[in-house]
Amino acid sequence: MPDGHPPQKRTLRSVQDIISAGLAGEISSAALEAVATRYAIAIPPALQSLIQTPGDPIGLQFIPDAAELFTAPHENADPVADEALSPIPGIVHRYPDRALLKPLLACPVYCRFCFRREQVGPDGGVLNDAQLADAYAYIAAHPEIREVILTGGDPLILSPRRLGAILQNLGAIAHIEVLRIHTRVPVADPSLITDALAEALDIPTPLFLAAHINHARELTSAAVQGLEKLQRRRIPILGQTVLLAGVNDDAQTLGELFRAMLRARIKPYYLHQLDAAPGTSRFHVPPERGRAILASLRGHISGTALPTYIFDRPGGLGKIPL
Ligand SMILES: *Cc1c(COP(=O)(O)O)cnc(C)c1O
Ligand code: SF4
Repeated sequence: MPDGHPPQKRTLRSVQDIISAGLAGEISSAALEAVATRYAIAIPPALQSLIQTPGDPIGLQFIPDAAELFTAPHENADPVADEALSPIPGIVHRYPDRALLKPLLACPVYCRFCFRREQVGPDGGVLNDAQLADAYAYIAAHPEIREVILTGGDPLILSPRRLGAILQNLGAIAHIEVLRIHTRVPVADPSLITDALAEALDIPTPLFLAAHINHARELTSAAVQGLEKLQRRRIPILGQTVLLAGVNDDAQTLGELFRAMLRARIKPYYLHQLDAAPGTSRFHVPPERGRAILASLRGHISGTALPTYIFDRPGGLGKIPL
């Protein structure tokens, strides 16, 4: 380094990257290769620096594991039936008043437990302009839709210009009252929350942001500062968490997470029961255990810190509180 700066970390995207970073642990490179052929890998610098050991709660979520090669009998490539409920590319319409819009299927990080793991990846699923126009037309033709939820993939990795244009187009539809974005970016790559992005999100239509956060350690000062940029633009932040064995399945860890969210002005919204996507059973927590953990928190933590424990039933039957 001629100017004396330490080497910059970069996103780990291949088996070789994982091995070179010393994160492979006991997993053989052959098993890693087999996993990588099937499911995308990305661990951005912000998350790499949080991994203390491969088996820690951060490492477990993002480091590929040989267990992903085993699909349990009840696991399903599309556990919540997104595909079946998709009238046109990029739209999922299950509840009358809300529609999902997935402008792309790439993410800043690939979570090993993701319920859309068979669909997401770096090279797939960007809607082109014609498909976006069709999506706007579908929403405009369905006056019962009041809220459009941008998800993916991760909408916040789009350029501020492109994302801003999508939000403007949706907000211009007369019956759209509220917009929402679901994202992992504040935790995975807070450097993407630039002033330009905050400005693009500052639109007349009320916009909510649901940030996916599974452990208090993910809420670094960079993540909190990024979210603050958006809060200053009148964007309320909701927290969504997936209950994951070995990551956050005990009262102390979840309590710390929900309190950390409140300190960052994030309202814990949903605690998701894991969906049965292929190769994710090592993360399964029985619902009785999830209920017991939440019950033990009640009374010991502010009511404002408690999310709804929710399960998205297989086959497109929709979410129910557990
Ligand atoms: C989860 C989900 C929503 C949003 O549900 P909320 O309970 O409003 O957060 C909307 N559409 C689909 C298809 C969903 O899976
Ligand atoms: S960021 Fe969300 S959509 Fe992307 S891999 Fe993780 S859980 Fe799945």
